Amino acid sequence: MSKAKPKGPTPSLIGGTNGRPKRITVQRRSECFRCHEELPAGVDCVAIPKLGGGYSSDRRICNACFILVLAKTAEDLADARKLVPEAAAVAL
Ligand SMILES: [Zn+2]
Repeated sequence: MSKAKPKGPTPSLIGGTNGRPKRITVQRRSECFRCHEELPAGVDCVAIPKLGGGYSSDRRICNACFILVLAKTAEDLADARKLVPEAAAVAL
């Protein structure tokens, strides 16, 4: 059995049902989906696209909550690296 060469772009663990986070300028007053802090029109915030289903919508998140999400992501990534001993030696 020969090993098949992977096709397509390398998947990221960040993703799945969440799209890639992006920085947006709030057009209409909205709120952080985590803490419900008001995000007034004109401010910048991070939007996490929600994929799948019949529609796609961005979930807005304030900077403070996004920092917590990043910390959680780093934690999950550290755990994921433990699954493969060789991964610890790979510099990211
Ligand atoms: Zn928030």
